[in-house]
Amino acid sequence: MSCNHQRETSRWVGGDNWYDDGSSMHTGHWEYDSVSTTVDLDLHRYKCTQCGEIMYYSGAAREYYQTGVDRKGLFK
Ligand SMILES: [Zn+2]
Repeated sequence: MSCNHQRETSRWVGGDNWYDDGSSMHTGHWEYDSVSTTVDLDLHRYKCTQCGEIMYYSGAAREYYQTGVDRKGLFK
């Protein structure tokens, strides 16, 4: 499976239901969430901590990091 740069999290949200006879039953449900696994690396660049892929906020930023040419003046 390829990385979608997100991590699924699940959390049990539960509570006790009390009955007249003093017994209780545990009820609840799972809550699912997806959180991004990317972190800012430096200017205009970020990285997925899960798969290690480096991504860029723009094509110009990619070009700068790959060729060293700062055509749009992003890094002045
Ligand atoms: Zn990833």
